[in-house]
Amino acid sequence: MQMYDLPDERGHFGPYGGVFVAETLMHALDELNECYLRYRADPEFVAELRHELKHYVGRPSPIYHARRWSDHFGGAQVYLKREDLNHTGAHKINNTMGQALLAKRIGKPRVIAETGAGQHGVATATVAARFGMKCTVYMGSADVKRQSPNVYRMKLLGAEVIPVESGSKTLKDALNEAMRDWVTNVGDTFYIIGSVAGPHPYPMMVRDFNAVVGHECKDQMRELVGRQPDACIACVGGGSNAMGLFHPYIDEAGVRLIGVEAGGARPIISMGLPRAQPAARPSQAP
Ligand SMILES: *Cc1c(COP(=O)(O)O)cnc(C)c1O
Repeated sequence: MQMYDLPDERGHFGPYGGVFVAETLMHALDELNECYLRYRADPEFVAELRHELKHYVGRPSPIYHARRWSDHFGGAQVYLKREDLNHTGAHKINNTMGQALLAKRIGKPRVIAETGAGQHGVATATVAARFGMKCTVYMGSADVKRQSPNVYRMKLLGAEVIPVESGSKTLKDALNEAMRDWVTNVGDTFYIIGSVAGPHPYPMMVRDFNAVVGHECKDQMRELVGRQPDACIACVGGGSNAMGLFHPYIDEAGVRLIGVEAGGARPIISMGLPRAQPAARPSQAP
């Protein structure tokens, strides 16, 4: 067990984390924390999650050596971990599957989520359909307009999508609305958060459920290359994908961990790659 594996008893990772919510949610969060700590060590729960990840999600996702892309840049040998090959097309289902199974164990028949681009909403609607749970997804009305294909997918999966008209009509307004729903319906409702954010134990849970990516990566690099990479690079939105890849590598002194976050016009973290024009090879897209 790694020393940073669990936060302190109040949910702090050093100066980060903790719980800052309305008093009405404290009971639900305590209950969730207790259940999660029990089930993460429960062989039956772990086996069920593994089974779903293998037979429903399609794990393990492969890694391949992007040979021609590496040649194009002329430096690092690039290996791609194909999270896009999971059911629903992203890593998000690793986490929504884990949280939905937890909801099932706790006996909550309804799940809610907030979503921006809609991918987390789709991954939540998918696991809700899998387990016959009711599903409500909050989405800013501006995002509903921008991401209509994902809204269509969520509805096909049986979810109710509620456009949020307040504020900037985007993700943070949807989050407020989802919180309000949870406070009101906490008796029968499980809130599936998709980012390494929110009150403890969510960041720990989201990290743990996505760490399957990093664990697979270690085994696959050993098998494919015979060593671990010099650097792991992940894009950062809500951070679940990056944290899932990085966490199993934190102990590996030789591996740099690099998160890349969209910074609007100016990049916050530069990857230091040459600014080559994208190669005119559509079939080589990552
Ligand atoms: C959500 C998403 C991201 C961002 O991931 P986070 O875990 O939110 O940081 C990146 N790529 C795809 C395809 C996604 O769906």
